Amino acid sequence: MPTTAATARHTWTNWAGTATATPADVAAPATIAELQQAVAHAAAAGLRVKALGSGHSFTAVAVTDGLAVRLDRLRGIVTADPATGLATVLAGTTLHELGPALWDRGLAMPNLGDIDVQTVAGALATGTHGTGARLGGLGTQVAGMQLVLADGTLHDCPADELPAAAIGLGALGIVATVTLRCVPAFVLRAEERPAAFDEILRDPATFDAFAEAHDHAELYWFPHTRRLLTKRNDRTGDAARPLPRWRRVLDDELLSNTVFGWANRACAARPSLIPRVNAIATRALGARTFVDRSYRVFATPRRVRFRETEYALPRVAVPQAVAEIEDWLRRSGERVAFPVEVRVAAADDVWLSTAHGRDSGYVAVHQYVGADHTRYFDAAESILRSLGGRPHWGKMHSLTADDLAALYPRFDDFRAVRDRLDPGRTFTNPYLRRVLGD
Ligand SMILES: Cc1cc2nc3c(=O)[nH]c(=O)nc-3n(C[C@H](O)[C@H](O)[C@H](O)COP(=O)(O)OP(=O)(O)OC[C@H]3O[C@@H](n4cnc5c(N)ncnc54)[C@H](O)[C@@H]3O)c2cc1C
Repeated sequence: MPTTAATARHTWTNWAGTATATPADVAAPATIAELQQAVAHAAAAGLRVKALGSGHSFTAVAVTDGLAVRLDRLRGIVTADPATGLATVLAGTTLHELGPALWDRGLAMPNLGDIDVQTVAGALATGTHGTGARLGGLGTQVAGMQLVLADGTLHDCPADELPAAAIGLGALGIVATVTLRCVPAFVLRAEERPAAFDEILRDPATFDAFAEAHDHAELYWFPHTRRLLTKRNDRTGDAARPLPRWRRVLDDELLSNTVFGWANRACAARPSLIPRVNAIATRALGARTFVDRSYRVFATPRRVRFRETEYALPRVAVPQAVAEIEDWLRRSGERVAFPVEVRVAAADDVWLSTAHGRDSGYVAVHQYVGADHTRYFDAAESILRSLGGRPHWGKMHSLTADDLAALYPRFDDFRAVRDRLDPGRTFTNPYLRRVLGD
């Protein structure tokens, strides 16, 4: 592969340590032309091809035994037009880089998840979402996409393919560029404060009131307590009043990462400590309010490694889901230190979006990497499935194509686009065979 910085055999592991791969070869193209050549060359040699994002999916969606394509040399904004709000970016651009780069051009992404280390194409591929009852996930921001197909062609997705390509699971080709529909740059007023469980999760009406009162509403429930931490972010015309550096370091680094990491290690060794540790944590929860650029408010560092499963439910089912998880924890005696995270999204029309066709609430359960997650995740999955849940494509789940076909009305349409764009299955892997059926 003369045009790419290919390296010899290497082993790749994702952030959570739940997936590993030993690709036959690795390419790091510096131009789209090099990417086209690398893909065509590998496919002609009979290799499967996968792009590597930042490795932040918990599933084996990025695993390949063929050619792994690193996109860290294909980064940056190609064009951005404040008049139309359209920004075309190279696929390997990280969300962390994109926030300030868009800001400098007077633009922002309307919604983001809670970390920003993902690549644009990686985040899109699995349906990454943030929170907001009137807002969709990242896939709803896609206005255009260029894919490199197995024969090396650069394919400009026509409008009728975008609902498939916007959340494409990496199954359609290697994304070279994405055009995002952005909004004028904005600042958020962030308010974080504790709340009682019943104040918000008593029933669908209290949860709706919370979700609808804010542009971006999110909560964390601490298992074995009746306490929540709530985050309410709203657009504001106020001048930025960021957290002082010492406060950001204290809250986001020391308490949320360093101390939380110690607590998790201690709790993994002695799970009986967990209810007391969680009770102390909820008593220590403080309130804080600040105003900052949107991309700085959305993302926080996550250094304590964990495993996660997350399901999107009809929004109305969220209080019941959390109540059933609480009930299972009580009955099972299982101890969990990590908070359960709850977010919302508006219904959208992206074919494989977890919020396709319905206003959704997301319930995510986490377990520290040093503790066994299986019993807890199995129980949570069974509860969330029974309430009509759809699993996040990048988070741990056990569903197969047959299960998923019943959950997505446009599943077969997605498979038809895949048959057209990747008939030889150059871009497949075992995870895709499980969730797409071949
Ligand atoms: C700590 C943490 C916090 C998270 N927070 C959130 C959150 O707030 N909201 C949420 O919804 N999810 C969240 N996630 C999940 C995460 O956003 C997704 O799993 C996302 O897909 C990871 O992006 P990545 O760049 O790491 O991609 P990877 O995990 O490396 O890859 C994901 C998929 O994208 C494909 N891919 C990457 N680049 C390309 C390309 N150029 N062309 C074609 N396919 C490509 C890969 O082959 C793979 O199939 C979180 C995960 C972690 C570990």
